[in-house]
Order: sequence, then structure tokens, then C-alpha cells
Amino acid sequence: MRNIRNNDLVITINEKWCKSCGICVEFCPRTVLTQGTLGRIEVANIESCNVCRLCELRCPEMAIIVTEGDSQNAKGKSCKVMKQS
Ligand code: SF4
Ligand code: SF4
Repeated sequence: MRNIRNNDLVITINEKWCKSCGICVEFCPRTVLTQGTLGRIEVANIESCNVCRLCELRCPEMAIIVTEGDSQNAKGKSCKVMKQS
């Protein structure tokens, strides 16, 4: 799990469910998400996220979730990548 904190926002990517289709990257209007080597989704620019949740709504695998107001992350934006075997 990787965490990037900057404000009151959490982006969670479940790598077990993600099929690396790139739909979330294409629909993100703020270029927050990028696709790295082997198709892995990276949160490259979380500061620009406007919490539109298009990535979450368009993901066919429900592999990405955007939440706000997590008390544990109240002082920072957070990117969490879940790895499940
Ligand atoms: S839309 Fe969902 S399944 Fe497709 S790359 Fe993004 S997180 Fe992975
Ligand atoms: S919530 Fe919107 S701006 Fe933020 S990563 Fe998802 S698509 Fe991009």
C-alpha cells in the first residue's frame, strides 16, 4: 500500500481488481491518474483532483474509490494502492 497525503482526500486503487484498462485515466479531467509500465495505474497529481469521481463511476471493475473527509486523513490527501493476492 502506498500513501500520498496532501489534503482531505483518499484515492484507493485495488490492484487485485484493476485490469489496467486505462478508462479511469482517460476520463479523469484533471490528469490526476497516469498509467505506468505494465499498465499499472499511478496517482501522479493528487493535488489537482476535484473529486468528480468520474474514475470511480467509469471503472468497470470497481477497482478505484475516491473518498473525502476520512478522519484519519483529515490533514492530507491520500492515495492508497491495495495489493491483494
Ligand atoms: S478503470 Fe478501473 S480497472 Fe480500468 S485501469 Fe482504472 S482502476 Fe483499473
Ligand atoms: S475524482 Fe475526478 S479528478 Fe479525481 S482522480 Fe477521479 S476522475 Fe480524476
